[in-house]
Amino acid sequence: MESLAVLLAAGRGERMHAARPKAFLPLGGQPLLLRAALAFEAASSIRAIIAVVPDAMMDEAARILCPVRKLIGVVAGGPRRQDSVLEGLRHAPERFDGVVLVHDAARPLVEPALIDAVTRCASESGAALPVLGLVDTVKRVRQGCVAETLDRSELGAAQTPQGFRFGLLVGAYEAAFRDRVTLTDEAMAVERLGERVVVVPGSSRNRKITEPEDLAWAESLLKEEEARA
Ligand code: C5P
Repeated sequence: MESLAVLLAAGRGERMHAARPKAFLPLGGQPLLLRAALAFEAASSIRAIIAVVPDAMMDEAARILCPVRKLIGVVAGGPRRQDSVLEGLRHAPERFDGVVLVHDAARPLVEPALIDAVTRCASESGAALPVLGLVDTVKRVRQGCVAETLDRSELGAAQTPQGFRFGLLVGAYEAAFRDRVTLTDEAMAVERLGERVVVVPGSSRNRKITEPEDLAWAESLLKEEEARA
């Protein structure tokens, strides 16, 4: 089945406290956006990539993404993550009916094997995402006090890429926008329609770069890997 990746890089990344949007910051000498795009370039299940970037960064993004041969478009994102996703979906090739994977450029160390696993699972079942198990005990907290200890074995952290049959995600997004629902990930749009979303094992390497310490963690991981090679 044909598959398309929508790479989200239109956030400001305020928690990084940097002068440039997060996806344009360097990691091991390459912008996060390029690193993430090259993982999709290397994944055999991916046919085409659309990058969603801040309006003011369109030219720079196109220049950065020059080496990515699967790139078919660079489009301007919107104010919320879900607006950026919608822009990406709007620019899919006409009559596209394969699988679409939505990925945070802020997860630049995603492995091609994880991308291929999500594509395979989404084409078989309709919707799939990586989930990483939790290591900490998790409490529900209300007004500064523990209300409850949750069963960790049933909980996990959602990652990207999240993959869907294209028609399923577009329908779910139309419904979410019609119902004015705020989405924190794509699977949420599909879950609220009662559709099954299948889980594949997430990866600790696929951590989201949110704060300066995450970038420092990624830099040291790359250095360690280089030293070992
Ligand atoms: O802000 P956060 O790290 O949760 O964003 C996750 C991803 O969504 C990032 O790659 C960011 O660039 C993207 N995003 C976007 N458009 C927005 C907000 C976030 O493309 N309006």
